[in-house]
Amino acid sequence: MELLKERILKDGIVKEGNVLKVDSFLNHRMDINLFQEIGKEFKKRFEGEEINKILTVEASGIGIACVVAQYFNVPVVFAKKNSTKNIAGDVYRAKVESFTHGRVYDVIVAKEYLKPEDKVLVIDDFLANGCALLGLAEIIENSGATLVGAGIVIEKGFQSGGKLIRDKGIRLESLAIVDDMSDGNIKFR
Ligand code: 5GP
Repeated sequence: MELLKERILKDGIVKEGNVLKVDSFLNHRMDINLFQEIGKEFKKRFEGEEINKILTVEASGIGIACVVAQYFNVPVVFAKKNSTKNIAGDVYRAKVESFTHGRVYDVIVAKEYLKPEDKVLVIDDFLANGCALLGLAEIIENSGATLVGAGIVIEKGFQSGGKLIRDKGIRLESLAIVDDMSDGNIKFR
């Protein structure tokens, strides 16, 4: 998606440890006009697929998932990272290792919001090593729902997640794939 790539080149900042900071339009301040174009693009790419639910993970996936969901006209469910008291009961649970924070945490989704008849599109901001996406895929599988595919805004193609997910036969649509940024210059696939 050219508009997104141009924006990454203009405003993305390459940080130590292979982290791409896009706080000015995606992860902190959110450019809703860009989000709308992202929503339209995912809608186009998943045209013809039956989708009745979007699943993401808190916190950075929520904003983008909500805007995308408007184009699919379906509800968004986000996996929670902490088991708060009022949701701790009947939940699906998966372990996720955070790439940016370097620790392992549980993600949970209440069973009542994910049913065997659901056809789920997963939306997330980044794909790095694939842990977040695999955790969500595991939750979907355990619920008996169908994982239609995953829509990722920025895939870091030099990390293992993309290959891992595609090798599992999961349909993956990434709007921008960064293949290299080791010298501080961002290069797309
Ligand atoms: P994974 O589970 O694929 O290793 O990492 C995906 C999650 O880590 C994303 O949901 C995102 O929040 C975060 N993440 C991974 N790499 C980056 C990055 O380079 N920049 C930012 N801003 N977040 C990242």
